[in-house]
Order: sequence, then structure tokens, then C-alpha cells
Amino acid sequence: MKTLSEVFKKYEAVIGLEIHTELTSLDTKMFCSCKNSSTDPVNQNVCPVCLGMPGALPVPNKDAIKSIVLAGLATNCDIEKNSMFYRKNYFYPDMSKNYQITQGPVAFCMRGHLDLDVPTKAAQERVDIDKEEDGSYIAHIGITRIHMEEDAGKLNHIGGVDGRIAGADHSLIDYNRCGVPLIELVTEPDLRTPEEARLFMQKLREIFLTIKISDCSMEQGSMRCDGNVSLRKRGAKEFGVKTELKNMNSFKNLHDGLEYEIIRQANVLEEGGQVYQETRHWEPSNKRTVVMRTKETADDYRLFPDPDLAPYDLSDEFIDSVREFLPELPDQKRDRYIADYGLSKQDASELAGSLEQSSFFEEALGDKKEIAKSLANIILNNLAGYLNAEGLSISESKISAESISELAELLSSDEISSKQAKDVFAIMIEEDELPRVIVEERGMKQVSDKGAIVELVKEVIAKSPDQVQQYKDGNQKIIGYLVGQAMKASKGQGNPKLINQTLREELDKL
Ligand code: ADP
Ligand code: ZN
Ligand code: MG
Repeated sequence: MKTLSEVFKKYEAVIGLEIHTELTSLDTKMFCSCKNSSTDPVNQNVCPVCLGMPGALPVPNKDAIKSIVLAGLATNCDIEKNSMFYRKNYFYPDMSKNYQITQGPVAFCMRGHLDLDVPTKAAQERVDIDKEEDGSYIAHIGITRIHMEEDAGKLNHIGGVDGRIAGADHSLIDYNRCGVPLIELVTEPDLRTPEEARLFMQKLREIFLTIKISDCSMEQGSMRCDGNVSLRKRGAKEFGVKTELKNMNSFKNLHDGLEYEIIRQANVLEEGGQVYQETRHWEPSNKRTVVMRTKETADDYRLFPDPDLAPYDLSDEFIDSVREFLPELPDQKRDRYIADYGLSKQDASELAGSLEQSSFFEEALGDKKEIAKSLANIILNNLAGYLNAEGLSISESKISAESISELAELLSSDEISSKQAKDVFAIMIEEDELPRVIVEERGMKQVSDKGAIVELVKEVIAKSPDQVQQYKDGNQKIIGYLVGQAMKASKGQGNPKLINQTLREELDKL
């Protein structure tokens, strides 16, 4: 089997994610007052507590607890009032006190969920999915828990391939990251395709950016994701044996790593083999996964309550005070865009799904509600297309909200056509001019003069007897061809709506 669609004819993939997010917005570490910055010069932000010197006592960072409660509320979790910290014991040089402080069976946040808007094509690969009234598909993804823990230090394997230990000559340790506040979100095994895994990760990242708990940089590692994946025959109830892909540091790697692994497992099963429970590493440059280690069990960690840290008893007042900080979340924003601006669900969710795009949209919109649809169009098509092609973010490009707003005004008032908007946009990028100036200087105004359009349309009708006959014979679609001819004759400056309407009028007269 070579492709996902081949595999999905026979098997169903089951995917669960474990997502670590450093709370980079906090000033200090989780249990000490060291500066919370893992990118400073090495081993600068350390103290007896985060290095685990004998006798040092941890003091929890209250802002970290606020952040995780906020994350829980934003992802529909129940907030557990009575959770506590545990010690996860292991020996590895990235954690000099030989245990990591984490949480036990009860975490601060339990039983949440996110709903994903799944594109139709991806939805077809799913066995169980709800179709909404408007024709869109929603996948309900359960969140098992979000727990609080501390990060470990960074090992730098000198001479290793990709900075990994394999083949390394020696290793250096940077403890700046040791004790950095970290939350881990674990999903239920509810995801079914690499596309859904990517959508989930993107949605979660946007939510965490919106509530401002982290910079969520996958490149820098402040947001990291492990993907668990197994296969089962379509229709089977039992889960298959899973493998875990470690630290996928971009949306693309997450998607591609899972895709590779699903196809690999399918081929193992097809050949009568067995999938082993193991941790694997995705090598983007070789486009394959390789074994890192076979599974250690929870028993190996001798998890027990940390006697240095008292159990929590969060009050309703505390939880309510955190709730007050909840900003408008992407789903709420999407619904508002639909209700207030009449955007289509797809446009609204695309815009609202990106904090950068929606902020730009709202800045450009100001109180000019009437330009909302044109503006959404320009941002999602022209602007996004350009940024994608150049690999730029909105803030990195020199396009201003004012100029995009002006372009949307020209388009929504029918002064220019969408074809012309595209041309104006291209010139805006090249010449750093305002749209109105460009339109005026080049005489690009759309022709909306009825008399001129009637002339144009009559010419086209005279030149296209075959198509006119087809229209008369009931082929409504041919009108598209005739509009195209008229647009061409107007050098792209005719108002397409008016041309369409006039064409029908003239044709019906024949
Ligand atoms: P482990 O004990 O290996 O850490 P967990 O039960 O804690 O496994 O689950 C870790 C992650 O793996 C979760 O996101 C969970 O949804 C997912 N998961 C569990 N079982 C499977 C499976 N059979 N196939 C795919 N994902 C799974
Ligand atoms: Zn410290
Ligand atoms: Mg686990």
C-alpha cells in the first residue's frame, strides 16, 4: 500500500496527541524565582531549586496555575479543585534532581473537547462524523486532561545526527529550561486522519495564542507534539497496537510523519506482521520513521505524590476570577462574523481561525460593516495567496490595513471588479501605492455605464451565433462563456454583474 486512500479503504487510523506547551508568557519558572527564559546564554537562569540541590523547597507559581485553568476553560474542560503534584522518577542528565514534578491521575483540567470543522474531502475518510445542517462536517475530539508539570533541561549532542544522541561524541547540558512551566494536553484517541491531527493542533495553538499563555512556537519548541497512532480494520471495535512519534516540530511534520507511519503499519499488517508498541522518530529529510526505544511502562517511573507540595483546594472564587480573563475564542469569533457581517461559514472560520488574520481583518474593517465580505475575500484570497507564496506573515509584509481596507471599499462599491482588484493588489505590492491612486492613474475604473455595456453585449451576441443558439435551446451554463467574451471585449473593466444581467435581457429579446 502506497497511499493513505488505499490504506483507508481497508483500515481506519486511530490517532491521539500529547501536546506540551511552555508557558512562555510567565516571568518566572514553575517552582522557583529564576527567569523563565530558555533562550538566554546557557546555564544562566538556574538556582538550587530548579537544579534540585538537597534541601531546596519548591514554591508553585500561582500565575502558572491561573494559566492552566484558563487553558482548561478555553478547551471545555472540567476544572478539578483537588489535584496535586507527583514525582515522576527517572535518571537522565536533562533533569538533575532525578525526578520531574508532574501531576498524577487527577490533573487540574479533565474531560474537555474541541470541535473540528473537517473539510469535506477529509470527512469522507471518516466512518463516524456529524453532518451539520449547512453541509459542513464536525468531528468531536475529546481532551482527556491537561496537567501541569515542569520542563527538563536541553541536551546538546555534539556530533549527533540532527542534534540527536546517535553517533554523538559528547553532550552538553543547558539547565535554563529546567523548571520552565509546562502544560501537557492529552487527547482521547478520537482523531482519524493526519489532516485532523493537523487541524486539531492548529486550532489548539490559536486558542493558546488567543488566551496569551504562550508564544506557541513550534520551531523554538515552546509547543511540541507527540503523535500516537494505530490501525484497525474498518468496522472493528478494538484498537490496534500504537506507535508514538516524538516531538513533531511543525504542522507539516506532524501530518507527514503520521501519514508515513499509517502506511508503514498498514504494510506490516498486510504482510502478516505485527506492529510493536514503540517510540519512533520522524526524519523529515529521509521521509521515514525510525525506532527510538521500545515502550517503558508507567511503573518504571514510580510515580508518587510529592511530599514537598500540598494538595490543592481551588475555590470557586479563584476559578471565576480566572474565567473573567477568557477572551473571545475562535469559534465565538466565527459565529460573530457570520451573524454580524454575513460572512459564509467557511470564510468566517478561516478568518477567525487565525489570530493574525482576524486582527488584521478587524483593523481594516473598522466600522465599515458594508465592506466585510469584500474584505474577507481580499484577505483570504489575494493577501493570503501572496503571503503563502512569499512565506511571509502579515506583519512581515508591507501591506497595511488602511490600503487593504481601501481596496475592499473599491470592490464592494462595484467601482472595480474582482479581476481588477487582483490587478490593483499586484501593483500595490510592487509599487507601495494606495489603491485609489492606482485605479485613478491607470484609469482602471469598472465600466458600469449601462449604455456602454449594452453595446458590448450586442457585439458579443452578434459574434457568437452558435452559443446564442445553445442558450436558446436551454443551455443556461453557456451564459458564462458569453460573459467571459464580454469581459474580454471590455479589457476586464466591465462590471460582471451588469454584463450578466444585460446579456440575459438582450438574449431574451431575441
Ligand atoms: P501510554 O500509556 O502509552 O502513554 P496513554 O493511554 O496514556 O498511553 O495514551 C497516550 C496517547 O495515546 C493519548 O493521546 C491516547 O489518546 C493515545 N492512544 C491510546 N491508545 C491508542 C491507540 N490504540 N491508538 C492510537 N492512539 C492511542
Ligand atoms: Zn531556579
Ligand atoms: Mg501516557
